[in-house]
Amino acid sequence: MKSILATMLASSIALTASAVVDKNFDYHVDRFADIEVLRYEVPEFDRLTPQQRIMIYYLSQAAQAGRDIIWDQNGKYNLQIRKLLENIYTGFAGNKNSKDYKAFEKYMKQVWFGNGIHHHYSTDKFTPEFSEAFFTEQVALLPDSALPLQPGQTREELISILTPVIFDPTVMPKRVFQDGAYDVVVNSASNLYGEGVTQKEVEDFYNSLKNPNDPEPISYGLNSRIVKEDGKIKEEVYHLNGLYGPAIAKIIYWLDMAKSVAENDAQKAYITKLIDYYVTGDLKLFDEYSILWAEETDGDVDFVNGFIESYGDPLGMTGSWESYVNFKNQASTKRTETIASNAQWFEDNSPMDSRFKKDKVKGVSAKVINAAMLAGDAFPSTAIGINLPNANWIRAAHGSKSVTLENITEAYDMASHGNGFNEEFVIDAPTSKIMDDYLYITDMLHTDLHECLGHASGQLLPGVDPDALKENGSALEEARADLFALYYLPDNKLIELGILDNPDAYKAEYYKYMLNGLMTQLNRIEPGKDIEEAHMRNRQLIAAWILDHGKKDKVVELVKKNGKTYVKINDYKKMRGLIGELLAEIQRIKSEGDYEAGAALINKYAVKVNQNLHKEVLDRFATLDIPPYRGFINPVMIPVLGDNGEIVDVTLQYGETYPEQMLRLSNDFKTLGY
Ligand code: ZN
Repeated sequence: MKSILATMLASSIALTASAVVDKNFDYHVDRFADIEVLRYEVPEFDRLTPQQRIMIYYLSQAAQAGRDIIWDQNGKYNLQIRKLLENIYTGFAGNKNSKDYKAFEKYMKQVWFGNGIHHHYSTDKFTPEFSEAFFTEQVALLPDSALPLQPGQTREELISILTPVIFDPTVMPKRVFQDGAYDVVVNSASNLYGEGVTQKEVEDFYNSLKNPNDPEPISYGLNSRIVKEDGKIKEEVYHLNGLYGPAIAKIIYWLDMAKSVAENDAQKAYITKLIDYYVTGDLKLFDEYSILWAEETDGDVDFVNGFIESYGDPLGMTGSWESYVNFKNQASTKRTETIASNAQWFEDNSPMDSRFKKDKVKGVSAKVINAAMLAGDAFPSTAIGINLPNANWIRAAHGSKSVTLENITEAYDMASHGNGFNEEFVIDAPTSKIMDDYLYITDMLHTDLHECLGHASGQLLPGVDPDALKENGSALEEARADLFALYYLPDNKLIELGILDNPDAYKAEYYKYMLNGLMTQLNRIEPGKDIEEAHMRNRQLIAAWILDHGKKDKVVELVKKNGKTYVKINDYKKMRGLIGELLAEIQRIKSEGDYEAGAALINKYAVKVNQNLHKEVLDRFATLDIPPYRGFINPVMIPVLGDNGEIVDVTLQYGETYPEQMLRLSNDFKTLGY
């Protein structure tokens, strides 16, 4: 599973900025269509040993070696189209200011970002805005040697196939077709199923293999393509001597190199198992690898490399190839460990009734990582958190790794800085300033407290049904965890623990929380609709309850300035008091299983949207140029060679442009032809 940043830029991230990162780092790389491309910094790379850096280098080669796999999985003409477009792009000698060329360049960039001709998120086919005549003309200028011809294919045949695939909106319109009223296999343009294979045939095929009583079922279909040959259904397995063999051979080579410099035996063991799996395609071995991987937590360096997430398959079976190479973010991991190891203090001092407190509470410490290389389906668009393995029985019996990609989150935050959001929505310069300085760290800390302590705190009274709050259970649980975090952000304990350095830092998060809960999160709601999603309900519940209960003392107000609405916090100390009150009440509701009171809170504060304010928020957002989707290019890893040509260390470079990186990858990691 992966956690993805809200695709419409959430205000909660648009605001943040860091007091701890390099403010001169240039995060912005490219902007086209609905996309912004960023770069991310890799902090703490210097603290690693040369051997760890070399391991990361080898794993990164293994990551990039799989690039062609995802392109081919996403559509059977993608690799040919990429080659053709890139040759037009690099050889173009005409007028680069012409409308056709500009449109062509935009399309090229979209195709790179989608790892194929479909949008990475909507999975709709891109619409080229250059003319077919321009395309034909450009192709005619290329010699045969620059055309991605299949063996025996003529120039004319190639063009007659690719032209409608690129230009005709009715050909391969959607990569992942999900309307269950139709055959989702036949109607999906991805290449996970062969020509003429139907949904029913796939389902019958796997149903005949599955044993519903197997307590340890393999992930059927995870690493294969289903095809029809002479009317018979068969599986083409992705492995060394099977489908994608040439790419997998390269991946295996680099994994083996990484194994030779691994940090410990447990890493060597899981890399060995992963190689065995790639050699054979045996999914039993993949499960064995996943268990070894989930249980290895000592090393700094870690990675994912394989057919993992199945969002690209309308039937949710086949894994899209992806890779993440990463290492532990020491500073932040230390922070979550400090918080978790003080869990009892936080429990004992919380404002909830002592009957609802745990005598013995165990905090959950989260691992925070820095990405060093993103690849396959995780590139350029990536998740900000990963929770693997996916197989439920492995998670239950052996646990899972849940990680946050801190430097990616940081890059999103930093790049949002200066997008006009603060100027539009934050009431005054001093508030903007404290948010500039402290929102990044207090946001992180809010998440830490929420995850490590909030959900773990409190207990039910004996005999209370854990599901007593029914449909409101998740929103109230999220509120409880958020309130726990908010309550402790101003606490001196955090300064004592060395986690914060300014007693006013919490004001950044308090302001953002109220602004987001009362106004800016409405940007993700369609006009006229209620709030449905549990986290959003929780945020409005808290913010609206505080607004209401602080009315008498004017703790927080909505004020008008030049016809625009702003959140104004008059008394931060009293606001903390209200947070404590609501935390105590929601804990009581949960501990006693008081369904009625929980439902009353949700109905009064969490669901309904103020229509006028909603419209105002949408209008104000529309004036900002905030790209709906963002992704990343990677740093370039440069091996440092010793006297005998051996790699003795690795350095990072960040200067590449988006087209430079894409063309370099196409050239250096070409594994599946063209
Ligand atoms: Zn939560």
